[in-house]
Amino acid sequence: MIQYTPKLPSEGVNTSKGKKVFRRLVFCCFIALVIIGIINASLGSIGEYVAVKYEKEINSSVSGSVCDDKMMATPESRDVQAKVKRLLSAYDKPLKIRVCVTDKYMTAKNAFATLGPTLVVTKAMYEDVKKGNDISIVLAHEIGHTVHGHSIRSIGRNLGTISIGLALALVEPSDSDVGKIVLDILSTNTLKYSRKDEYAADKFAAELCKKALKDPLPALNYIEKSLLENDPGAFEIMSTHPDSKKRVARIKEILLGQ
Ligand SMILES: [Zn+2]
Repeated sequence: MIQYTPKLPSEGVNTSKGKKVFRRLVFCCFIALVIIGIINASLGSIGEYVAVKYEKEINSSVSGSVCDDKMMATPESRDVQAKVKRLLSAYDKPLKIRVCVTDKYMTAKNAFATLGPTLVVTKAMYEDVKKGNDISIVLAHEIGHTVHGHSIRSIGRNLGTISIGLALALVEPSDSDVGKIVLDILSTNTLKYSRKDEYAADKFAAELCKKALKDPLPALNYIEKSLLENDPGAFEIMSTHPDSKKRVARIKEILLGQ
């Protein structure tokens, strides 16, 4: 004999209605986010042609939020600011960049350029400065990203990725710790530039260091050493691409070329 517990008619109806509404809501959110994602991804790729116009405005609204005055006033920050200033003195256009040494955003050996324009160096990388290394090429590479407006383009591209990540998290609720997924996407993508951007920043770095440094060899040695050591915490300039040896060769060619 089959045993069953009768249900009140209203119970089942309510549940399926609620589920239907929820599914529709998820579906609408998914479509909306995919559309936002596509728009943002397109903005990222066409950003090269349109963003520069608005870059100054966006930078001034962000200025001071990544490196605040307190972060910029430490002896370490002042030391790196002086190095950046020396490099910028060889650049043919006036450019002001906020520079600070901080572990607020990451602790690995790294340097990155972002809106502001701002250049952040981590304490682990500053340890290398204390050991007597010349990080000029790394700094000049990041200045190159700023000069070419790569940060804005990269953020444009990443907004697309973030939106798509959110959309996927909504339709896959089984592993949906949305916050974690977004954070993962952000942490793995915010510092990634296209290969083209990396080459442009390398070229800029080599040319600027050639003009600004009396002796570029210590700076070149630092890049080469980091590469040979294959440091897993190698900074962004080396870690994002597998063809680092080729990149160092190109930098060397420009830096030491006649
Ligand atoms: Zn780079």
